[in-house]
Amino acid sequence: MHTGQLTFFGGVGEYGGVQVLYGKGEQAVLFDFGVEHSSLLFPKQLTLYEPVGASPGRELRQFLLGGMTAPLVQLYDPQHMKDLDMAKVRRSWGNIDFPHYEGIRLFIGHMHTDHMAILPYANPNIPVYMNHDAHSLYQGMVAGGHSFDTAARIMVCDDLSVVDFGEFTMQIVEMDHNSTGTAGIIIDGGDHTIAYTGDWRKQGKHSERIDRFIELCREKQIDLLITEGTRLAADPSAVLSNQMTEVELLSRYADIVDEAEGLIYLQMSPRDLERMADMMAIAVEKGRKVVMDASHAVIWHRANQEGLRILEGHPALGVDILIVDATVTDKLQVPNKTISLEEMAERKNDYVYFYKFPDLAHMIELETLGDSQGGSHFIQSDYSVKVDHADVAKYLKTFGITGHSLCNGGHAHPEAIADMIERIAPKAVITLHSRHPRSQDTRGINAYFPQKGETVTVASILASTTI
Ligand SMILES: [Zn+2]
Ligand SMILES: [Zn+2]
Repeated sequence: MHTGQLTFFGGVGEYGGVQVLYGKGEQAVLFDFGVEHSSLLFPKQLTLYEPVGASPGRELRQFLLGGMTAPLVQLYDPQHMKDLDMAKVRRSWGNIDFPHYEGIRLFIGHMHTDHMAILPYANPNIPVYMNHDAHSLYQGMVAGGHSFDTAARIMVCDDLSVVDFGEFTMQIVEMDHNSTGTAGIIIDGGDHTIAYTGDWRKQGKHSERIDRFIELCREKQIDLLITEGTRLAADPSAVLSNQMTEVELLSRYADIVDEAEGLIYLQMSPRDLERMADMMAIAVEKGRKVVMDASHAVIWHRANQEGLRILEGHPALGVDILIVDATVTDKLQVPNKTISLEEMAERKNDYVYFYKFPDLAHMIELETLGDSQGGSHFIQSDYSVKVDHADVAKYLKTFGITGHSLCNGGHAHPEAIADMIERIAPKAVITLHSRHPRSQDTRGINAYFPQKGETVTVASILASTTI
């Protein structure tokens, strides 16, 4: 009988960029296919501003040579390799010998770039598994110009569906995170079971999904738990206390919409389509109209055209969106009616503007035209450009706009992680997606700390004895 083993290409000692290969016999699955947020290159379109991006047309070569993605030639689209010498790529990994598998497939847990940035360059022959709503969001991101398309074969999976690799099975389990359709996996290799959480949180609207994941892991008697640990700090006591729940965050937003006299600028991530839906519905309920940046509107429209199970029956589906005409480009197929900045300026308190950085210049017109002036609000809601960003701060000050930060993050508090570890009670736990995995309290469960590039059998991880 073959034995299962893991190779760690990314996510070790860093925020994101999780790339772990589980293989048994000749079959393997690589889970997640992203690039770490703070590596040499910032994956394009993460923040939509000033990233040190890869050179257009040479992205894959640079990700590979920079050691930012697994050096396994079969994963990649030859068209994007452009005759890259793989010997040079292996050199940047210290010429380590990696295991070879006849069949490698991919699983992508969610649509944040630190988990999916390499998807556009995947080999067209490789099946890529993803959860239903994550796929709908991806279609939206491609249509809205927030990601390149992929030639790979995407296999859309239902929540809890099981994929059979022959040597092992992989079950898709929907989680809760601030990216629509996020899922983790449970791998059953016959000899051992492994659960990978992906990114997750307890403060979202669907904490019952985390409880369900834990229950599934208990039923399966998971041997090895791989969890994220983004919020761990070098000093465990320095971790901020629990963040507000999504329900509380939405209620604070509702209060701001209620009280604001001028325009409301709302900067949020269009990868969290449930929050977007909730914020649209609240805006309408409070008597305002939704106006939106064109690319965000295209993501919303296209993802919903594909179908989003999480939004079935949601009141936001019937909301008419007006697109700010100054944001329309030739490349975008705009599905909605447009509105000009002049029209918006005339009736500032009629609108919530789902705005996208760096369109700050719109404020010059919106705040100076029209009869009424002042009383506008700017809300930053879990977006990468914060209210204290130098340019945002300058505009808010110039026009007397009140700034708000409504954030609760997408990641689990270390206490929630400790609770999950204790309840699942695996034989060993690995904390990835963290700079400080050693500060995680594992409640007495054996912790394993892999090195980047390491290959290790599951059996020897379970037999090791670091706490
Ligand atoms: Zn992540
Ligand atoms: Zn994420």
